[in-house]
Amino acid sequence: MSKSKVYLVGAGPGDPELITLRGYRLISEADVILYDHLIPPELLELARPGAEVLSVGKFASEHTLPQDEINSLLVAKARTGNMIVRLKGGDPYIFGRGGEEAEACAEAGVPFEVVPGVTSALAAACYAGIPPTHRDCTSNLAIITGHRKEDKELEIPKAGTLIFLMGVANIERIVNSLLKQGWAKDTKIAAVEKGTCYDQRVVKGTLDNFLEVAEKAQLRKPAIFIVGKVVELQEKLDWFGARPRILLPGTHPEKYKHLGTIIHRPFIKLVPIEDYSAADNVLKNLAPYDWIVFTSTNGVKFFFERLNAIGLDTRTLASNKVAAIGATTAEALREFGVLADMQPKLESSAGLLEEFGKLGVKGRRILLVKPEVGSPVLLERLTAAGAEVEVVVVYKNIDIEHEPTDFDYIDQILFTSASTVRAFMKRFKTIPPSLKVYCLGQPTLDEAAKHNIKAEILPPET
Ligand code: SAH
Repeated sequence: MSKSKVYLVGAGPGDPELITLRGYRLISEADVILYDHLIPPELLELARPGAEVLSVGKFASEHTLPQDEINSLLVAKARTGNMIVRLKGGDPYIFGRGGEEAEACAEAGVPFEVVPGVTSALAAACYAGIPPTHRDCTSNLAIITGHRKEDKELEIPKAGTLIFLMGVANIERIVNSLLKQGWAKDTKIAAVEKGTCYDQRVVKGTLDNFLEVAEKAQLRKPAIFIVGKVVELQEKLDWFGARPRILLPGTHPEKYKHLGTIIHRPFIKLVPIEDYSAADNVLKNLAPYDWIVFTSTNGVKFFFERLNAIGLDTRTLASNKVAAIGATTAEALREFGVLADMQPKLESSAGLLEEFGKLGVKGRRILLVKPEVGSPVLLERLTAAGAEVEVVVVYKNIDIEHEPTDFDYIDQILFTSASTVRAFMKRFKTIPPSLKVYCLGQPTLDEAAKHNIKAEILPPET
């Protein structure tokens, strides 16, 4: 059965976790993804290898592709027998011309389906702490475009709450139209910029002062405007604004989400090394080692993947004892069918050294599983204690570039390893003084101290 179809998928407003499960799955199955400027970029990482991922993004007057060309491209791609995901910001049918794209498919006889999304009109209000309806304020709501080509007054429907999209360039006309059509001067109005994103900002005023307030605040796009009594609830219900915004340069953002809004900006990516000949010689001959030591989940993953790639499996480790630096590494080993013989309470190199110290390592052969560039501490200390230590390199770190991070919208940095401290300092040289710094574990804190960073320790179970 041919998968040929166009799916118009709502990507949600900005926070990548606000996409539907159906949208999430379709992105990972698509042959072709055509996406807009306003979608969360993280969602594109779900594309399968080999998928064609194309930007047709547009932003008010700066069109990358005119709408009729987007429509033709959609139809042309679908006719090649492919499964197309047309990924649109928010909900596909709330402005953004999703209706026109669906019509183009219908007229061309191309099968299509539409997956609704969380619209920015409601999500930005929600993350700003403003419920669009509330029994004490209003029971109805209008969503209005602030972007009209005609040079005339906006026609504003009668509703208790008004939400304007596409209005930043037109704010003067919106406010004047409201006043002219009988809205009181002291009516509350709020702009929510970059709603649901880490750099969301809420700017509030009343109809008679808002033009000044907005000018002073230098509003950024994209933004919505919310008008009505519900804006009064903002301060009380500002749950998102109350959360700390935490920059995480390391891996595993999911582990830290309970701490606040995580801005994940890894500096490094872990990849296989180019030449495995030295590693393969070691992997094919593991029997002589008394201990194999894993100091990270990544080491475990790359070690066993390489073992499998050369036709070997867990049985190769039958005569070795295995050490894991901590609980997560031990868990990763368990997934490959290996139960660690050593897992220090203190989850660090120091913890491992303490355990080995109790056992005595003189004359023991120990194999350390490592990245290309890693800390030499274990190698040096175990050698000094009389062990015969060898290293097997199974992966390496490479640098990643990012879109610039706006430190004005960050409250904290969380370093989860010494290497993240080094990578951060190499790139940024210094830490803005307004940021509070946390380090996971003592070795990370020690590294921060070397760079004169004032930091607090975060216990590993956090
Ligand atoms: N289909 C989209 C809207 C497309 S029109 C949706 O349902 O959200 C583009 C307008 O959406 C922008 O001009 C802005 O008003 C609004 N918008 C989109 N993302 C936004 C965000 N993260 N925060 C505030 N407004 C946003």
